[in-house]
Amino acid sequence: MPIDPTLPYDDTNIFARILRGEMPCSKVYEDEHALAFNDIFPQAPTHVLVIPKGRYVSWDDFSERASAEEIAGFVRAVAKVARDKGLVADGYRLLANVGQHSGQEVAHLHVHIFAGGPLGPMLSR
Ligand code: 5GP
Repeated sequence: MPIDPTLPYDDTNIFARILRGEMPCSKVYEDEHALAFNDIFPQAPTHVLVIPKGRYVSWDDFSERASAEEIAGFVRAVAKVARDKGLVADGYRLLANVGQHSGQEVAHLHVHIFAGGPLGPMLSR
């Protein structure tokens, strides 16, 4: 069920619980601004989620309320994960769903990193 990204941040969402250490994750990377972990239902040979440490519902919320330091730290973390995993040469895809039409299911900003083989067309209908 897609979330409503205009609602206030809900601390019970699954990624908030992972950040608090209440739920396990397969961690890939962590720094002061971001946590990266493998998606539980991978949709590509490599499927990593990168989330900011702050309480942001979506890309929209993050871009509006986060500090310049948080935004720079998060963007750099996404790129670092991809670089550290050796994905740059063959390429990768980033995706951030926002709200109902995108199918966003978790109400904490997350950027998907897909890689590990040809990823097909950008959208399938
Ligand atoms: P969205 O559709 O919101 O952009 O993507 C949510 C993603 O979170 C999905 O790809 C889903 O598989 C992943 N996900 C949902 N719950 C968990 C979880 O508990 N652990 C991990 N690692 N991934 C999750």
